Amino acid sequence: MHDFLLAKEIIDELVLIAQEKKLEYIARVNLEIGQIALAHDGHPEHVEDLSEENLRFGLETVAKNTPFEKTVFEIKKVAGNHWKITEIEI
Ligand SMILES: [Zn+2]
Repeated sequence: MHDFLLAKEIIDELVLIAQEKKLEYIARVNLEIGQIALAHDGHPEHVEDLSEENLRFGLETVAKNTPFEKTVFEIKKVAGNHWKITEIEI
């Protein structure tokens, strides 16, 4: 579940970055992903372990019909409870 919610958050962030930098296309995005606490479906905030595979699937699904449809996502699992975009290649 968090994989998908996080994918949405990441794509939203990419949309903002692309608007800000006036990019029409992003070839590759490097991501660092820790354990992410989220609240959803009436549950309070909690942590779920994220599967890299599910997150990749979520990203590809959410990216459909956006300028990031063909973007390659490099996912690096890290310790900690944050995620961040570490590099963008155009
Ligand atoms: Zn959850």
